[in-house]
Amino acid sequence: MKAGLGRNPSFTWRGIWEARKWLEAGCRWRIGNGRTVHIWQDQWIPGHISLVAEGVRGCEGLNPPLVDSLFVDNVRMWDIQKLRSLFNPSLVSDILKIPLCSDNVEDRRVWAHERNGEFSVRSCYRFISSQAGPQIAESSNMQAQQKFWKHLWKMKVPNKLKIFAWHACKDSLPTAVNLVKRKVIPNATCRMCLSEEENIAHAIFHCGAVQDLWRYYLPELIRDKQMSLVDLAMQLCERNMAGKMCTFFALAWGLWYRRNKFVNDQILLGTASVAESVHVLLRSHAQVSIKIRSEILKFYKWNPPSAGSLKLNVDAATFPGWDKAGVGAVLRDEKGRILMAFSRAEILLKGSESLELLAIFRGMQQCVTMGVSHLVVESDSLLSIDALNDDSMTNSLLGVIYYEIKKLASCFVLCLFSHVYREGNRVAHKLARNACKVDSMEVWWNSIPDCISQTVWFDECL
Ligand SMILES: [Zn+2]
Repeated sequence: MKAGLGRNPSFTWRGIWEARKWLEAGCRWRIGNGRTVHIWQDQWIPGHISLVAEGVRGCEGLNPPLVDSLFVDNVRMWDIQKLRSLFNPSLVSDILKIPLCSDNVEDRRVWAHERNGEFSVRSCYRFISSQAGPQIAESSNMQAQQKFWKHLWKMKVPNKLKIFAWHACKDSLPTAVNLVKRKVIPNATCRMCLSEEENIAHAIFHCGAVQDLWRYYLPELIRDKQMSLVDLAMQLCERNMAGKMCTFFALAWGLWYRRNKFVNDQILLGTASVAESVHVLLRSHAQVSIKIRSEILKFYKWNPPSAGSLKLNVDAATFPGWDKAGVGAVLRDEKGRILMAFSRAEILLKGSESLELLAIFRGMQQCVTMGVSHLVVESDSLLSIDALNDDSMTNSLLGVIYYEIKKLASCFVLCLFSHVYREGNRVAHKLARNACKVDSMEVWWNSIPDCISQTVWFDECL
């Protein structure tokens, strides 16, 4: 604490030295045995800076002028007579309010601006702002906030992510703390670490279950448990690292998704897969923004069916090395929720069209057994879909499969065939690829299998 700035200080040391000034100003001595605290120079009376700084004149009579000389001899009690002879009545009254410990404990420096005496960056920031004078502090804080919101809305990320960031900063997401406030749940403990209350800053940043990700991706962030999400993000803004705000909020969004998956579906995604998905999302958003406008994008992306219908996406894949093929299908409702998904191994048929048709057939078979009434079947095979939408193919080599599919279609109240670009059929594609690991068939009900979790996520964000 007493070290000087030196003649040619390094940049880092200058920073520490500056911060030390504030640390020193915000600390106060807690009196124990009084043997280390200087009466005139140190800050030890609540509500006062050092007596020298307040212009209270020292007195020669006490040598050494340490606080223990203000005690009754050999007893740890304030010597009221002595206090009155040295200080004005208001100062005496303030000193008498300082509790003394009967045991011989050391004097200790504590941070005076938190009830628990613990130093925190947030508390120090508040202290510095208050010292700078309320007006200056307020206007500079307002300017900083304006700058922050401007950067937030300017981030080059999908709009969905900006809206998430805004909700997170406004603390309007359904965290455990918020749900307790609304009396939805009785307990605000974080479900991931089971040790602290889950507010938004905890869920996304302070929780033990997410620390490795932040240390790896944004090690420059000052971490302090008192800091809100806005405090954390504003650090980046204030330190001219606004570009990193995209990373900050994209990771935050990924971690919130992960948290929801765990709380709602009891599925724990690894932080590495969160990072990977976020990375893919940011990169593809950047590419998409450059190449195609969002108007065009809607033709490429997966769109949910209209209310009352379910949509079945199907695809096929070949694994010639193993003399094997696979089909995959996923059934989703109008909110994009997965009702059923499967990967199924097939023998390697000749020609991709026959496999695409087989995928359609298998998927529809599954939907019939589920009692689906209104179905939209989507495939990225334009040939197959065009053929199914007119009757010209019934006499072709593949006519039998077309016939079987049409027969199956009559089991539904309504069954439509529609084409989707590959980009919109990724989930089914992944399921078909996954069939290489499957012996005959694997089906998932109302859950998201690991092999497509990232892709489903991706569909949701486009
Ligand atoms: Zn936690």
